[in-house]
Amino acid sequence: MRVFICVDMEGISGVTTFEETMAGKADYEYFRRQMHKETNAAIKGALQAGATRIVVRDGHDSACNLLPEELCVEAELIRNWSGGLYGMMEGLDDTFDAVVFVGHHAKANTPHGVLKHTMSMKVNDLRVNGLSLPEIGWNALIAGYHGVPVVFVSGDHAVCEQAQALFENVVTVPVKEGRGLAALHRHPEKMRMFIEDGVKKALLERSGCKPFVLGDEYTVEIEFNSEPPAYRGEWYPGAVRTGNCTLQYSSLDFMDCLRFFEFVT
Ligand SMILES: [Zn+2]
Repeated sequence: MRVFICVDMEGISGVTTFEETMAGKADYEYFRRQMHKETNAAIKGALQAGATRIVVRDGHDSACNLLPEELCVEAELIRNWSGGLYGMMEGLDDTFDAVVFVGHHAKANTPHGVLKHTMSMKVNDLRVNGLSLPEIGWNALIAGYHGVPVVFVSGDHAVCEQAQALFENVVTVPVKEGRGLAALHRHPEKMRMFIEDGVKKALLERSGCKPFVLGDEYTVEIEFNSEPPAYRGEWYPGAVRTGNCTLQYSSLDFMDCLRFFEFVT
């Protein structure tokens, strides 16, 4: 069993402000340690479920937050942005059996979401075939393209609710809940136990999970939070301007949509 673990930082236990996720800022190193610990909890859960290959993808900011030495020896680690289309899912291919998301956040504008946003800070909403998606939904489509299901998500309460609404039989571990700009946190040590147990359970029961696909044809609509990126994106071949701040693109092949998204955001 091959497991792909995509790790973000906004949804790690305790993280409340963007500053805490920025290299060089005062508390970054503390929260980076929490990021390592929660990733290791997920790795341990995967090992207990019988994983034979575990690839960890650092998906936050520079994508160079996780250090190889700090992870369990069984894991491999993908660092930095490749420049290609796969972004937070770089390294994923058909050989994997399951995707695990650790430390993720809700989509932009979600009530009670902690550090909510959708991929780029320029995006107000991202819709695929009319369905508004969080980052994990978009990344799950990349996994779905390769026939790989999402089995587990940890992060804030709101992203866990969004995951439950999108992915059948997904196991979720909510580590905190937003209150405006504040957040109510559960204890990190307890959350690590929940993540370890949750990933193990999710992988053992993964036969109930299906790859995330949204039909045979894809229509992607990006709503920017300002007008200039919509103007610029209009120059992308096949892109259609559907509003002051919105762009639309359709294709039978999700890879075309991924290319569109990467080039216009
Ligand atoms: Zn992030």
